[in-house]
Amino acid sequence: MDYSKSIAFMRDRFVPFVDAHVSIASSPVLYGLSIYTVFSLSWNEKEKKLYAFRLKDHFRRLVSSARIMDFNSFAETWDYDRFEKMVHDLVKKNNIAEDALVRVTVFVDALLAGTKIHGLPMALSAYVYPMGEIVPRSGINVCISSWRRNSDNAIPSRAKVNGGYANVALMKNEALVNGYDDAIALDENGAVTEGTVANIFIERGGILITPAVNFDLLEGITRDSIIRIAHDMGIEVLERAVTRSELYIAGEVFITGSSARITPILSIDRREIGTHGDGRIGPITTRLMEKYEDIQRAHIKDYPEWRLNIGV
Ligand code: PMP
Repeated sequence: MDYSKSIAFMRDRFVPFVDAHVSIASSPVLYGLSIYTVFSLSWNEKEKKLYAFRLKDHFRRLVSSARIMDFNSFAETWDYDRFEKMVHDLVKKNNIAEDALVRVTVFVDALLAGTKIHGLPMALSAYVYPMGEIVPRSGINVCISSWRRNSDNAIPSRAKVNGGYANVALMKNEALVNGYDDAIALDENGAVTEGTVANIFIERGGILITPAVNFDLLEGITRDSIIRIAHDMGIEVLERAVTRSELYIAGEVFITGSSARITPILSIDRREIGTHGDGRIGPITTRLMEKYEDIQRAHIKDYPEWRLNIGV
């Protein structure tokens, strides 16, 4: 799929991707005043069907981000039914029959409006793009970032606001320049929060642990799915504070996200994770990776409420 030749949704209609523009004087360009979500489309080759994963939850999170950022007119013009129809049409117009991602952005659609938000018009854009590898699926080597995650009273990490991504971009940049694949973000008090675009889980003594949502992190929909799947597999999951040194001694560590999917972490600050030390992915991570993939593609029928058969 060549997204540059695709059809996008912009404001209230479908247009060629190359014609979907915002002005150089617009609030999202000038101040990062936009919110977004990315969800996956998974292709089932046997059934020749495409499934969107947890679409309603992605819409709900968009609504939450809008609420936090006071994008008040968004909820007046968009409800879930309209959103779902837009996604159906987008998939249909682009004849999607492969794994893909959809990015939906809601932006303050005003020119030279300064940093004002409340009462200004909001517009929605959406486009489909290929499910590339934002990080190697086989596993990544990460560092602890020297930057700190933006705190709830600065730019809430819970809101998926584009301007806030300058924070994790600094972390990702630092990691890449220093020869790592990605970074782990600590909060201002030194607690582990998440990766740069994914949540984090560690395994200790057969128990999965992930930072609780009252730390500065995005409430990932994949994170929520993994908590439930692991629990249903009989694996205990704790949501609590995670400290830096626990990362170094964990048996397994992985990150989760709609784009990152489930990606194992092989080393942190050059300390190899787990007892294998041979690049093998741990057993719990492997089981969860397989199950999550099967659920998304409807290879197994569990969790039907998470999938929406969409388009072809
Ligand atoms: N944290 C951050 C900062 C992210 O950008 C993402 C990706 N959306 C995630 C976590 C994972 O969220 P989700 O599982 O909903 O994609």
